[in-house]
Amino acid sequence: MSQAQRIDLHLHTTHSDGSVPPRGVLELAHRAGVVALAITDHDILSALPEAMAAGQELGIQVIPGVEISSRYLDSELHILGYFLDWHDPQLIARLAQLRETRHSRNPQIIDKLAALGYALTYDEVRRFAGTESIGRPHIAQVMLQKGYVTSVKDAFDRFLGTGKAAYVARELPDPVTVVQWIREAKGVPVLAHPTWAPVSGAAFVQLCRDLKEAGLGGIEALYSTHKPKQNGEFLALAKSLELLPTGGSDFHGESKPDIDVGVGRGDLKVPVAFLDPLQAAAG
Ligand code: AMP
Ligand code: ZN
Ligand code: FE
Ligand code: FE
Repeated sequence: MSQAQRIDLHLHTTHSDGSVPPRGVLELAHRAGVVALAITDHDILSALPEAMAAGQELGIQVIPGVEISSRYLDSELHILGYFLDWHDPQLIARLAQLRETRHSRNPQIIDKLAALGYALTYDEVRRFAGTESIGRPHIAQVMLQKGYVTSVKDAFDRFLGTGKAAYVARELPDPVTVVQWIREAKGVPVLAHPTWAPVSGAAFVQLCRDLKEAGLGGIEALYSTHKPKQNGEFLALAKSLELLPTGGSDFHGESKPDIDVGVGRGDLKVPVAFLDPLQAAAG
């Protein structure tokens, strides 16, 4: 059954820590009535050719995107980039460098897990991941296969989440740097899932102002896990700060089984009207 037109500007594939390949994500989007979408894999752009080819066949506009983690106040702050020049050599080199920091962190996580009595090797994780952008959700899924945890969430809650028993911080750029990188690649930087930020209220507003000064173009006001009231608050905040509103599901497939393409937990609806202003802000 075809539903009302919508877009989804936050999707992961097997090219980072999602479990569905690009073509499969496009097929799910088609069924959900999604007319335009952005693939936003962590630190990698390699899903785009397959996604764009599938988008052409299905009549879905595919926007080149990426999600980059930054470090802010000892926490992670994720920045999305849209309408990037995804062939830009400088961007490609910067993302390759970020993936290297994953390869230096991940074996340290595995050492910590071993010390806690949970044996797995980085080779097993690499084989499972099948990509160069290897993240904690891959480690969590190998732990799940081995029966060490009851779910990916359980793995994060007990071992992999910030400050937990096997947590290792990754070397990350600061958010201003990430915003600049995206601008230098002709993209629009957008603050992802604002409720994950380590600050709220006035401190969050100040963070948005500071990042806007550096080139931030938008806030992900509509997000799968937001309550309707939060969607409204972030839409109003974006408007008052003259930042563009965006929205997306943050679909990952198996590691976030309650989140579906286009509809999140069922009530996400990102309007098509968000797209033109976003595109106009790129370049
Ligand atoms: P990494 O990129 O290796 O630092 O892993 C971070 C990614 O793990 C995030 O972008 C999410 O996709 C995922 N993640 C973080 N916390 C959780 C959680 N509690 N449950 C499931 N996935 C999570
Ligand atoms: Zn992810
Ligand atoms: Fe994120
Ligand atoms: Fe994401």
